[in-house]
Amino acid sequence: MKSQTKFETLAIRNQLERSQFAEHSVPLYLTSSFVFEEAEHMRAAFAEEEERNIYSRFSNPNNTEFVNKICALEAGEAGYAFASGMAAIFSTFAALLQSGDHVLSCRSVFGSTHALFTKYFPKWGIETTYFDANHLDSLADLVKPNTKILYAETPTNPALDILDLEVLSTFAKKHHLLLLIDNCFATPYLQQPLKWGADLVIHSATKLIDGQGRVLGGVVAGKEDLVREIYLFARNTGPALSPFHAWVLSKSLETLALRVDRHCENALALATRLQKHPGIQQLKYPFLESHPQYALAKKQMKAGGNIIAIELKGGITAGRKFLDALQLCSLSANLGDSRTIATHPASTTHSKLSEADRMEVGISNGLIRISVGLEHEEDIYQDLFQALDKTL
Ligand SMILES: *Cc1c(COP(=O)(O)O)cnc(C)c1O
Repeated sequence: MKSQTKFETLAIRNQLERSQFAEHSVPLYLTSSFVFEEAEHMRAAFAEEEERNIYSRFSNPNNTEFVNKICALEAGEAGYAFASGMAAIFSTFAALLQSGDHVLSCRSVFGSTHALFTKYFPKWGIETTYFDANHLDSLADLVKPNTKILYAETPTNPALDILDLEVLSTFAKKHHLLLLIDNCFATPYLQQPLKWGADLVIHSATKLIDGQGRVLGGVVAGKEDLVREIYLFARNTGPALSPFHAWVLSKSLETLALRVDRHCENALALATRLQKHPGIQQLKYPFLESHPQYALAKKQMKAGGNIIAIELKGGITAGRKFLDALQLCSLSANLGDSRTIATHPASTTHSKLSEADRMEVGISNGLIRISVGLEHEEDIYQDLFQALDKTL
């Protein structure tokens, strides 16, 4: 594809070459292995002298197509697709870190990423220090001689803090750290961390990339030498994405721009209308002027995303009442689905943490996270509004 080819076109047209059957839409290649005509071809493929598919744990045409699309959309040199976002995050760290290394991560990270840092990495002699998303100036005090990776999500989940990608990248370069960004909430359509200087970008493709709550998937893209290490780790340890899921996700990318545009339009309209409701203490959405990092969000994101964070005046009780009053919106652990989803972290995903620990990661008792879907904005509004009324 030409270098000036636009996002939407790349997401649709950057596909595998047609087979002998001249199919228009790329078919599904459900095969665990690939066959060779001669011993010499097989030797050359294993020696990586010839680029050929060998075994679907290493590569498969559908996975290659999905990865190529992500690389085109994220401006990545190379990539690899995983069975889930967590498989991508774990394999990336496992491939790049050694025992004795130190990770500097933004405090507010996805729950299972937090578990990796606090429960599993210490077993392997890897230490993590958290920094506060709103105090990047504290980074210099936290970096150590053995710090290897600077890690962040932006926007963060569920507090919706925005981290300055340019500042993080300058800091990482100065201290010779690898900058890894979990770009799940923004998708490559809204924000491209590699263009701001990140070394690798990671996605849970389960969320907005699939966008219809069907499959799990994950992907890493970025610098070729780093992806090579990750690929070799994955090739030997086996967290590969199923070709079927890769096929679904390649089709999903064809409509990513269209879907995310509507997700963001709905979310901005709802955030604007709901913020005045008397049951709400505070409402956060990156593209509302009331967001503390509104200017930064505008600088590095094309639109505000599909997540709204609402702080209810009535705390835990109001949170539970709100969820029970919803009629259209779903109570579900997913996000980025075509169906609007509401969650109350304090009574569900983060109920095992102490209140003090929850506060540390920005989860107050009355926090509701809304993943705005693709239903008509008025219908979502009516449902959220009547449920908010019940909290009064
Ligand atoms: C969901 C999520 C993940 C994990 O992805 P899975 O596909 O569920 O394994 C990682 N990071 C963020 C920000 C997420 O929302």
